Amino acid sequence: MKPILPGATIGILGSGQLGRMLALEARRMGYKVHTFSPDKNSPTGQIADVEFIGKYDDINAALQFAEAVDVVTFEFENISGDVVKAIEAAVPVHPSSNVLHITQHRLREKNFLDSNGFPVTPFAKIATLEELKNALSKLGTPAVLKTAGFGYDGKGQSKINSVSEAETAYSAIGWGEAILEAFIDFQCEVSVVAARGTDGSFAPFEVVQNIHSNHILDTTIAPAAIDAQIKKKAIDIAKNVMESLDCVGVLCIEMFVTKNGELIINELAPRPHNSGHWTIDACVTNQFEQQLRAVCGLPLGSAEQLRPAAMVNLLGDIWANGEPDWAEALRDPNVKLHLYGKSKARKARKMGHATVTGNTAENVAHSVKHLKQIFGIVSKDK
Ligand code: AMP
Repeated sequence: MKPILPGATIGILGSGQLGRMLALEARRMGYKVHTFSPDKNSPTGQIADVEFIGKYDDINAALQFAEAVDVVTFEFENISGDVVKAIEAAVPVHPSSNVLHITQHRLREKNFLDSNGFPVTPFAKIATLEELKNALSKLGTPAVLKTAGFGYDGKGQSKINSVSEAETAYSAIGWGEAILEAFIDFQCEVSVVAARGTDGSFAPFEVVQNIHSNHILDTTIAPAAIDAQIKKKAIDIAKNVMESLDCVGVLCIEMFVTKNGELIINELAPRPHNSGHWTIDACVTNQFEQQLRAVCGLPLGSAEQLRPAAMVNLLGDIWANGEPDWAEALRDPNVKLHLYGKSKARKARKMGHATVTGNTAENVAHSVKHLKQIFGIVSKDK
């Protein structure tokens, strides 16, 4: 592939914060940006040259959008596979529609990983209450029931503690096609964000530890304080998954580290990920520049981490008593603030994030604790 060079136009499907941060990198490097979504004045649209308004299942609108760009990538997975296939016939799309097709549906993704020999949680396909009850008796409880498609941040998920809860749990996720997973009593959660170029080159960022609260990412610690052997295994898994998918772009693999030190893949996201935001302030090349380089067929940048770091998500909850005290938070010179340009602060809505860097992991942990106190962030579970 001939590289797509500065001056060209990047098309982004989706218009949230991931597109915004990609657009900022693209503009810095002299590219133009068009974003496609149904929303006006979106986080990406505020930065893009053109905010193209269209529904995600409108093939004609998507083709019109594609005509004006040189390459298309996405920042969110819940886009009709047919639409992406149609765009692909007109202009290069990275990662491909095939990668999107597999990863936008939990069952397809689990079957793909399982059949390629990657470690996944024991799981079963569910289409009826009868199947759910049978699967519960096979996989045991506790277990987690998830919708097969279109879920994120713990939405469309229900934990089941005993077979008697089956009906309530299935109803809570809206019936339909689902997946039941054995509940993993993990030691910690980690992720690997990595880039893969059109020439097959591979550049992983450090393995990081993720702490969730109410199913939403709360804090990412970079690097993760886990055994070097486990980190090496995690990066090998990431490389092999990207190769098996023939994925060009950035991909995040979320994994559980079991109490025995084994790794189990929880899910894949074929795009930059919330657990990679720290790379903006702590790496030579960040995940968004890597996405841009990969999809444009350019050489990947160095993924080297320059300082220990942590990322804290800023959810709408911290606006409950008015505007958060930004000046107080920025009193710590190692805090970097990122706000996504969203006008309404709703509970659990990702409004921004803060990255803290420091000379040591201890200094970073100290700053994170202080920052959370200022914002009144209380982590609810692990
Ligand atoms: P997901 O949307 O699948 O990434 O799930 C969100 C969070 O729910 C994960 O990061 C875990 O903290 C938790 N979770 C999901 N699936 C499982 C599982 N099978 N066992 C234990 N915890 C889980």
